[in-house]
Amino acid sequence: MSKYDFLLVGAGLFNAVFAIEAAKEGKRCLVVEQRSHIGGNLYCENIAGINVHMHGAHIFHTDNESIWNYMQELCSFNHYVNSPLAKYKDELYNLPFNMNTFYQLWKTITPADALKKIESQCLKIDNPKNFEEQALCLVGYDIYNKLIKGYTEKQWGKKTRDLPAFIIKRIPLRFSFNNNYFNDPYQGIPVGGYNPIFKKCFSKADTLLDTNFLLNRELSDMAKTVIYTGMIDQYFDYCYGALEYRSLRFEHQQFSRKCCN
Ligand SMILES: Cc1cc2nc3c(=O)[nH]c(=O)nc-3n(C[C@H](O)[C@H](O)[C@H](O)COP(=O)(O)OP(=O)(O)OC[C@H]3O[C@@H](n4cnc5c(N)ncnc54)[C@H](O)[C@@H]3O)c2cc1C
Repeated sequence: MSKYDFLLVGAGLFNAVFAIEAAKEGKRCLVVEQRSHIGGNLYCENIAGINVHMHGAHIFHTDNESIWNYMQELCSFNHYVNSPLAKYKDELYNLPFNMNTFYQLWKTITPADALKKIESQCLKIDNPKNFEEQALCLVGYDIYNKLIKGYTEKQWGKKTRDLPAFIIKRIPLRFSFNNNYFNDPYQGIPVGGYNPIFKKCFSKADTLLDTNFLLNRELSDMAKTVIYTGMIDQYFDYCYGALEYRSLRFEHQQFSRKCCN
């Protein structure tokens, strides 16, 4: 008989919710995580009193009230609203593209003027062949050149002309002065960071850290069912080659601030 009902590969958000719900049903879980910590992409480290999201900033957001209420049992949220800024050369622009962005680009003040400017710049062709043409059709050259091209090429590691058009079927443009990145009514960051949530979720599970499941596949004998949240091409030993992923490399820098009062 298997010792566990579920072998959960990966200690990220998906398996965390799975583990806490399985425990409520009396099911036994073994978590196998290749990193030396639980939390997946949401893992935080406290650096100089700040909860640093080590794998990129994460903002919890949902339009579903029952999901929001579910989370209240695991943490309390602050009132963070994500309103990012993009830096292009020495210029700063609000995202997502909205009336503030259009003002920063062209000093347009009304939605009608902004729309006119965008339409005057849009490429007018019927069948865009690649990402670049598609983006130029949708938003014109200023937005594309300053706020889309470099960002996209860095993340995909490819020229936009070599990326397919379907990646961006639409680019949301807001004709209001709203810098809120998400449309969801419920959003925030857990007070105290994400780690305590994961501790609670996995509290009833056994956990093996620093263990790559793919190098220890015999672990699957320990459970009736395996739930795998790693990379799918890796799982199948790249039998169809490596998938192309959009990816990021994080470089952390710490700046000290001299306080004057
Ligand atoms: C930079 C960035 C910012 C993001 N910001 C947001 C945001 O603000 N809001 C939002 O809602 N979503 C955001 N996301 C998306 C969010 O991170 C994911 O949707 C979520 O983390 C997915 O959870 P998961 O459990 O499926 O995967 P993950 O969090 O990736 O967890 C998978 C875990 O599996 C482990 N693993 C993989 N392979 C193996 C193996 N072979 N053996 C053992 N362990 C393995 C990994 O180490 C990892 O810990 C962001 C993503 C990124 C990359």
